[in-house]
Amino acid sequence: MTYLPNSNRYQNMEYRRCGNSGLMLPALSLGLWHNFGAIDSIENARNILHTAFDNGITHFDLANNYGPPAGSAESTFGELFKQDFKPFRDELLISTKAGWPMWDGPYGDFGSKKHLIASLDQSLKRMDLDYVDIFYHHRPDPNTPMEETMAALDLIVRQGKALYVGVSSYSPAETQKAFTILKELGTPCVIHQPKYSMLERSVEDGLLDVLELNGIGGIAFSPLAQGLLTNKYLNGIPENSRATAHRGNGAIEEDAITPENISKVKKLNEMALERGQTLAQMALAWVMKDKRISSVIIGASKPEQVIDSVGCLKNTSFTTDELKAINQILI
Ligand code: NDP
Repeated sequence: MTYLPNSNRYQNMEYRRCGNSGLMLPALSLGLWHNFGAIDSIENARNILHTAFDNGITHFDLANNYGPPAGSAESTFGELFKQDFKPFRDELLISTKAGWPMWDGPYGDFGSKKHLIASLDQSLKRMDLDYVDIFYHHRPDPNTPMEETMAALDLIVRQGKALYVGVSSYSPAETQKAFTILKELGTPCVIHQPKYSMLERSVEDGLLDVLELNGIGGIAFSPLAQGLLTNKYLNGIPENSRATAHRGNGAIEEDAITPENISKVKKLNEMALERGQTLAQMALAWVMKDKRISSVIIGASKPEQVIDSVGCLKNTSFTTDELKAINQILI
């Protein structure tokens, strides 16, 4: 059956400018790291994407290596794009990345021109797209000169294979250097994708300042700490959770669900309930409160989680006392 998106989809979503660029991002974006691989149900993947777009989530975030197996999330997305989303291409922002191990041999990883150009060409084929909206270098490469990596990003934009480029997981100093090189080349670095949540706050030690100084937008990944900052693990580890799925590739494992973490999460959950929110909603609102963050990229294993997360927009402000209390819990 032809997919007809919700005609009210733009009513409740907030759109934020990405740094100093012309790019407007939905306050919540959807990531396809997990639950869109060849091992997952394509009908569930379809329902999650429909629910996201129906609620104004116009940005889908991918990478060459998402799956498992690597590449299969892009293939699933390509299939669903062809079936359901093609008429809406100009309403969508689709991103992908390269820089983590993808194929065998010396060219399947990191930040050489050879890797980035070949990887994006593969991604475009898998997704059946002419271009992506954002292409990222996925992680810093200690051995390739940054001038080469940035020249590859510049070339990709000039070739029309990506509209915008950015970096992910670069340190403050690396981000500044990347920004400066790209500026000289004439292609702005518009976006940085770091890990940021109540449980992972290293971006507060300089990165957010570098983003602000240079007009780069921040887009936070794993804002729910892969599910830890939800009500999912409050009473033990349920069978149908990421922590029990052993999906590899950096996915949360059972040993991260420590009594110490759960004790914090329980206190945060009480606060969220007092604010009339779920814990997931409070955790997302907390990341979004910093205007240097243009968007948070949520993951979801079912459509209901997307709906719960989007509900965070009903209350995104915090009193000074609430922020203090949260900091006390997080110490
Ligand atoms: P989250 O921190 O949002 O975790 C998502 C998981 O949390 C879901 O799969 C689900 O787990 C659980 N969850 C989500 N909403 C709810 C809810 N309302 N109630 C209960 N549980 C909930 O994000 P991810 O870690 O998935 O990362 C998001 C995206 O960020 C990725 O898809 C990717 O696009 C990007 N990313 C980028 C990286 C990079 O290096 N640049 C690295 C990692 C991610 P469950 O499956 O157990 O139900």
